[in-house]
Amino acid sequence: MLIVMKHSATQGEVDRVVETIREMGYDARPIPGRQRTAVGLIGNDGRVESGRIEGLSGVLEVIAVTQPYKQVSREWKEEPTIVELPNGARIGGNELVVMAGPCAVESEDQIMEIAGLLRASGATVLRGGAFKPRTSPYSFDGLGEEGLRLLARAREATGMAVVTEALEPESVELVADHADMIQIGARNMQNYPLLRKAGRSGRPILLKRGLSATIDELLLAAEYLLAEGNDQVILCERGVRSFDNHTRNLLDLTAIPVVKALSHLPIIADPSHGTGVRAKVTPMARAAVAAGADGLMVEVHPDPERALSDGAQSLYPQEFDELMAQIRMIARAIGREVAPGFEELSASAP
Ligand code: PEP
Ligand code: MN
Repeated sequence: MLIVMKHSATQGEVDRVVETIREMGYDARPIPGRQRTAVGLIGNDGRVESGRIEGLSGVLEVIAVTQPYKQVSREWKEEPTIVELPNGARIGGNELVVMAGPCAVESEDQIMEIAGLLRASGATVLRGGAFKPRTSPYSFDGLGEEGLRLLARAREATGMAVVTEALEPESVELVADHADMIQIGARNMQNYPLLRKAGRSGRPILLKRGLSATIDELLLAAEYLLAEGNDQVILCERGVRSFDNHTRNLLDLTAIPVVKALSHLPIIADPSHGTGVRAKVTPMARAAVAAGADGLMVEVHPDPERALSDGAQSLYPQEFDELMAQIRMIARAIGREVAPGFEELSASAP
C-alpha cells in the first residue's frame, strides 16, 4: 500500500503518517519524490484498515499496490531509479552505460591490457569474474581474492568502476570491499540468503535473470534487495533456456520493455551470455539498445582463443570498438546517448 501525500504536506504530517502506520503494526518507508512525498506501507497482510490513514491531514490518496513485488513496482515509484557508481557512471537515465571485460580475471597482464583497451573504446565499467560459477566442477573457477585485488588495481589505473560476482553470502563483504557493484549471477537469482546479504552490503547490485526465471520472479528477487533497504539495483536480461540450440540461450529482448513498464529499476542486456556465440553478440547488442536497454554488459578478451572461460562468446577488442560506434548511432536514433567515455571527456575538457 502506498500513501501519497499532498504537494503541500509538511514534514510533521509525513511523520504522523509514518507513526500511525507503525502503531498499526506495519513498517513505513517515506519515499521523497520530485513532486510530492509518498509513504510506503510494508508488511501488508491484506487486512490493513486504510480509513485510519486516509483521514490523516496531508494525505492525498491511498493506493493499493497490486503487484506481488511492491517497492520494485512502478506503482510504488513512478520516476526511474538512477544507480550511481563512484566513478560517476549513472545507469537508468537518458545515457546508456557500457560494462565490458573478460568473463574471468585471469592475470594482471590480461586485466590491465583489456581495461586499457575498453576504456579507450568508451566503456566506463569494467566487468570480470573473480569467483566464477562453472557448470563443471573441473573448469577454471576464478582467481578468488587475488582476482578482486587485480580488478581494484585496474580501477586505479583506468578510473573505470568495477563490477564482479559474489557467489555466496559469506563472500559478499569481501567483494564489497573491492568492487563498486556486486553482481548476483543467473544461477543465484533465487538464492535468498545471498540476496538478503547483498541487499545489506551498501553497494549497488547487478541482478541477472535466472536461466529459466519468469520476469515476475526476477522482479520478486529484486524485491529482496529493496526490502533490505537497497534501491540501487540494476536488472540484467542475459538470456533464458529455449528449445533451440543455435545459441546458448535465448536473449529475451521483450523483457526490456516489459520490465520498463512494470518497474522503475534500470535494466541492461548481456548479449554475450544471451547468445553464447561471438558472431551473434554485436547484432543482439544493437537490438538491445534499440529495445530500450539502459546499458550493456559485454564480454571482451584480449585473446579470446586462449580465454579460460567463455572465449567462444568473447569479442575481440576491435569488434567491441566497432560495436561502441554502432550503438552510439542507435542510441541517438531513439533520443538517447551512450555515456561519454573517459577519453571523450578528457578530449572535450577546456
Ligand atoms: C558472468 O557474467 O560471467 C556470468 C557467469 O553470467 P550469468 O550469471 O548470467 O551466467
Ligand atoms: Mn562468462
